[in-house]
Amino acid sequence: MKLLENKTAIVTGGARGIGEAICLKLALEGCQIVVSDIDLEGANQCAAKVKALGVDAIAVKTDVTQFQDAENLFKTGLDKFNKIDILVNNAGITRDNLIMRMSESEWDSVISVNLKGTYNCIKAGTRMFFKQRAGKIINMASVVGIMGNTGQANYSASKAGVIGLTKSIAKEFGSRNIQVNAVAPGYIETEMTKHLSEAAKETFLTMIPLKKPGLPEDVAAVTLFLSSPMSDYVTGQVINVDGGMVM
Ligand code: NDP
Repeated sequence: MKLLENKTAIVTGGARGIGEAICLKLALEGCQIVVSDIDLEGANQCAAKVKALGVDAIAVKTDVTQFQDAENLFKTGLDKFNKIDILVNNAGITRDNLIMRMSESEWDSVISVNLKGTYNCIKAGTRMFFKQRAGKIINMASVVGIMGNTGQANYSASKAGVIGLTKSIAKEFGSRNIQVNAVAPGYIETEMTKHLSEAAKETFLTMIPLKKPGLPEDVAAVTLFLSSPMSDYVTGQVINVDGGMVM
């Protein structure tokens, strides 16, 4: 029996990078996947990769900043699979700038996707999770939500917010047997970090005891743990996947 046999997961930002790796990792353990992304073509491609592993999947175009999209995401997932067991709030963006130069739209867009988007999807699923009296919610934070980072005041604030949200919801949902945790990746090789300057990449590497960047699969492995019955007595936690960058 696979770890997530007969389970269904929604993964936001599932079209590529860490989100795609999570979709594939959960699918390898038998989990059906609702691949959610603002990029429908990318989400469709990921859903096709999941199906190639022998489990069912659908793609749903979702802008997580829109509450109606989040509601539609749950409705479409439930129409297809009858239940949602796991919600992975992974969609996230960066708009880096020093606060001196940061525009209001750079601030607003990052808070809107990373923090409000996480709230929207949790809120849209709350009634269903409560009725079910079971569920796993995993929110993608970041080590910079813990330690801060020059040029990322908006992003760090959004991820610190995700950590506070995670702990509060864990307290509210605990009596309903719903575990809520966060994963805090460090420097992971994806499209998001591809455009960092060589100097910034070098600086990160000097801070990482394991002396290498992480892969999306490293984050997916911890997300699998938090999605599975192996973590049934774990809630309100933030697990860093950062090669030891923050300890
Ligand atoms: P990517 O940029 O590679 O992928 C993010 C995905 O989210 C893209 O497919 C993107 O679509 C989608 N997305 C963007 N905006 C929205 C939206 N409004 N609604 C729905 N989907 C949206 O990022 P990563 O895989 O690197 O990151 C995944 C998560 O991990 C993020 O939350 C990020 O903050 C976090 N993280 C990443 C780290 C890293 O080093 N890579 C480190 C720490 C945390 P599109 O391409 O069309 O914009």
